[in-house]
Amino acid sequence: MTREEAQINELRDELRTHNYNYYVLDTPTIEDYEFDMKLKQLQALEEAHPEFYDPNSPTLRVGGQVTKNFETVVHEHRMYSLDNSYSKDDLLDWEKRIKKIVDGPVEFVCELKYDGASMSLTYENGTLVRAVTRGDGTQGDDVTANVKTIRSVPLQLKGDYPEKFDIRGEIVLPFEGFNAMNEERIAAGEEPYRNPRNTASGSLKLQDSAEVAKRPLECLLYSMKGRALGFETQFEGLEKARQLGFKVPEASKLARSIDEVLEFVNYWDVHRHDLPYETDGVVIKVNNLQQQEELGYTAKAPRWAMAYKFKAEQVSTRLNEITYQVGRTGAITPVANLEPVELAGTTVKRASLHNADQIEKLDIRVGDEVYVEKGGEIIPKIIAVDLSKRPENSTPTQYITHCPECETELIRQEGDAKHYCPNYNGCKPQVIGRIQHFISRKAMDIEGLGGETVALLVNEGLIQNYSDLYTLTKDDVLPLERMADKSAENLITGIEASKTIPFERVLFAIGIRYVGETVAKKLAKHYKSIDALSQATMEDLVAVDEIGDRIAESVIEFFSSEANRVIINRLQQYGLQLELSADTLANQTDKLQGLSIVVSGVFHSVSRTELKQLIENNGGKVSSSISSKTNYLVAGDKMGPSKRTKAENLQIPIISEQEFLDLIK
Ligand code: AMP
Ligand code: ZN
Repeated sequence: MTREEAQINELRDELRTHNYNYYVLDTPTIEDYEFDMKLKQLQALEEAHPEFYDPNSPTLRVGGQVTKNFETVVHEHRMYSLDNSYSKDDLLDWEKRIKKIVDGPVEFVCELKYDGASMSLTYENGTLVRAVTRGDGTQGDDVTANVKTIRSVPLQLKGDYPEKFDIRGEIVLPFEGFNAMNEERIAAGEEPYRNPRNTASGSLKLQDSAEVAKRPLECLLYSMKGRALGFETQFEGLEKARQLGFKVPEASKLARSIDEVLEFVNYWDVHRHDLPYETDGVVIKVNNLQQQEELGYTAKAPRWAMAYKFKAEQVSTRLNEITYQVGRTGAITPVANLEPVELAGTTVKRASLHNADQIEKLDIRVGDEVYVEKGGEIIPKIIAVDLSKRPENSTPTQYITHCPECETELIRQEGDAKHYCPNYNGCKPQVIGRIQHFISRKAMDIEGLGGETVALLVNEGLIQNYSDLYTLTKDDVLPLERMADKSAENLITGIEASKTIPFERVLFAIGIRYVGETVAKKLAKHYKSIDALSQATMEDLVAVDEIGDRIAESVIEFFSSEANRVIINRLQQYGLQLELSADTLANQTDKLQGLSIVVSGVFHSVSRTELKQLIENNGGKVSSSISSKTNYLVAGDKMGPSKRTKAENLQIPIISEQEFLDLIK
């Protein structure tokens, strides 16, 4: 073994251990910074020595593989559903049915029922070879590339592992990560995701695994399937999985009777609210695997297991009023104002009604007695109306036709669930919201200026849009409520300092609908200046990688407004960065202008990411799959044979790394 190979192996082992400590045990033993340094070191070594490529290296956690069509895979062991129970009697009946089939005492394991996307992982010789969704139970989708980015899924097992087995688990999105994702979406003017479960299963079907890598998903495991696994009970199986390096929650417990099972259920019915992820019940399993085998399966579910669903907490209360909120993008959200009521430990006064369709579907009316539920969603929702209590004189709800803030007539675009107020520059919540977004941390990050002060500045008539910020003087702001001399000074300095914020963040800050952080970066890189972007046609825009019709239309609409153009001109005059800096531009050419290039395999002198960057910096477009429109396929080592065949069939030039580098020299 060469010195480099030994070093690579050692770093891989070390990083695996740290990954495990951090993501499985939740007890990191190394600083994040140090971890990143080691990862970078390993990346550099792997790039210099592609001969030691390992599909399970910790460096591959960041993703990058793109799946166009998920392949269907038949499960070796079918993935069954579970029967549900709702009461002690249900459980006692179940126990009776069991005792008819098996002899001797029966012990149960109680586990939490994690609410996410079910998953089957296949391991061979200690490495992850496949990850498949449940699908219809018999066959599912191969989502291996995406699942490999989930840090708590071991790519390489520890200890004494069986040669080949499947392990079942649930991919969940913990609340904290879910909320953070939604904050970003809201900042970008997009609809927040409704609940963690759908977001988790949606994530598994994203085509770009690098996008999945950014989502804080976790995989919780509960059952190994295979031959000669080395344990005889479900409880031992959980312990075995832990030893191999899987994340198996500690909550599981042995119970000798249904009463003990109920103790577990009652305990977790309350304490589940302290868990970092969603659970929707308890799963009770016969502990002894021999007994499980005797019991077998019905057409749909094992006879040896039973789900006990927690009751979704629900109360009924009166709907006093429907009000309408105007967001910073002008989107209207109807809000139910309720007679205050206690629900799952909090007082609920309001619930979102989402949009006009939702109101129509529920046929909800002021004065109605309504059922409110706190399920997976963070905001309580109204699930139904108690029609028996509807007042006699009640009339159907008329959705508003005009903006509650500025009285402009609302519009509703084809395909949009929401109504919008089109009074972009004159509707107060939109004006204030847009400036608040402009100054926010991920946008212009203006120190010394907060959201409330923005509202104050607008209400006092000192500013009407974000470009007005740059003409404010200390004397203007001093008379404001609670504005001391020092804070006035900080505010002005903060505004001045924001003039150095780079172009892509300014582009995010100006708040074009659907242009979030990532899209802003893409557009900035592609167009290089706001002037170029403002002149782009619909056709140009949709030709940019990952820019769809919706975004393109929104960009065109933004720049077609005279008022917006005036504001942008002013920002230019005040010296904001409205083009890429000279530094960034120095590395750009248009040598690959108009060319669509596919990259495949492992490279030597540059990494895949750098290669893609080079293509884009030279004006080319990186495409993920080969079609008749592809101009070149840059082939590295270990390129997929199907890509090669496809390129050959379509007669697309296949070039080496060196030939590519010569192209842009
Ligand atoms: P259901 O889809 O309601 O029939 O419930 C079956 C699903 O519950 C399985 O496919 C798993 O994805 C999920 N599940 C969550 N936690 C567990 C657990 N501890 N044991 C077994 N299944 C579980
Ligand atoms: Zn309005």
